[in-house]
Amino acid sequence: MSAPAHPSAQPFLPLTRPTIDEETIAGVADVLRSGWITSGPNVKALEAKLSEYCGGRPVRVFNSGTCTMEIALRIAGIGEGHEVITTPLSWVATSNVILEVGAKPVFVDIDPVTRNIDLDRIEAAITPATRAIIPVDLAGLPVDRDRLYAIAKKRNLRVIEDAAQSFGSNWRGRRIGTFGDFVSVSFHPNKNITTIEGGCLVMNTEAEAKLAEQYRLQGVVRSGFDGMEVEIVGGKFNLTDVAARVGLGQLPHLDAFNAKRTEFARAYFEELAAPAARALGLGLPPADFSQTNWHMFQVVLPEERLTIKRAEVMAQLHAAGIGTGVHYPAIHLFALYRRLGWKEGDFPIAERVCRNILTLPLFPTMTRADVTRVVAALTKILSAHQKS
Ligand SMILES: *Cc1c(COP(=O)(O)O)cnc(C)c1O
Repeated sequence: MSAPAHPSAQPFLPLTRPTIDEETIAGVADVLRSGWITSGPNVKALEAKLSEYCGGRPVRVFNSGTCTMEIALRIAGIGEGHEVITTPLSWVATSNVILEVGAKPVFVDIDPVTRNIDLDRIEAAITPATRAIIPVDLAGLPVDRDRLYAIAKKRNLRVIEDAAQSFGSNWRGRRIGTFGDFVSVSFHPNKNITTIEGGCLVMNTEAEAKLAEQYRLQGVVRSGFDGMEVEIVGGKFNLTDVAARVGLGQLPHLDAFNAKRTEFARAYFEELAAPAARALGLGLPPADFSQTNWHMFQVVLPEERLTIKRAEVMAQLHAAGIGTGVHYPAIHLFALYRRLGWKEGDFPIAERVCRNILTLPLFPTMTRADVTRVVAALTKILSAHQKS
């Protein structure tokens, strides 16, 4: 589905776009000419580099940042009869994987400030069937790892960090991925680095990594020239060498990309502090410039003060040549989840935020002037639609 053409005189400013340099493009051409285009030496090289970035922990790459979480659940032995605690404010992948392995998602409402799972509410949601927590670092803002792991340790739960959005973020100076239990990262084109599609899983032991390799490819274990054994049901989740070569060209830039994102996030705060913008009553994200990788810059519209809804705000921004996004609708209100018993009112904080959250353009190759343009357009639209 393509969006309607916009009549603005200025070039369209997308919500995001990947930054891929010419060296990487040439490298991809080399892989394509090499005679080996699916999983091979580039996958191995990317895994080694990612492991280095994650403090030497075992890392394996996959063809999404969704199967990584499903595989982590399987490695942890989580399935039928088990419950997994997570947030209703995420990409639906986060809870779909829980259903996929036959377990039950247990949603916990969010903290309205961080927009991440409310750690104060987790313990009340734990039952004898609870096996794991999947926290999400929305927009790259890390969930409090000290408190998270204190709960997990006390209640003997596994943690699968959905760090799809927080690669390059840190918790109190410790890079996400270098510590903790399972850490799942996505390399979708909208994320801070990409392999087109893809993701990686950081694990604790080589034994877990071996199991992950089996789940990744039909459960197969090879030995010698002709040995093959299959003991578990695996899927088809391997990353191609072409994609891995893209990742090898991206990873060295991750910290620089994140620095640019942080610079533009700061600019958003500056522009939004101007009196006309401030008067709008927008909900802003925490102004964290030391831990967050600024995967996204998201405002929450003040629905009680506006005569138009979010879709109309987005339409008017689009007409002004500005792309925006919604990350995300509340998971528990999707038809699938309603059929499983959830309903409006179950998680009122998440529901209000999810109805009104709006992601503004933020990517390394935008400009300071783009930020000014976005805030000016948003201010103009919202000012014109205030309830009297
Ligand atoms: C992107 C994302 C995923 C999954 O990513 P894919 O690589 O597209 O499968 C999971 N969780 C969150 C929070 C994400 O943003």
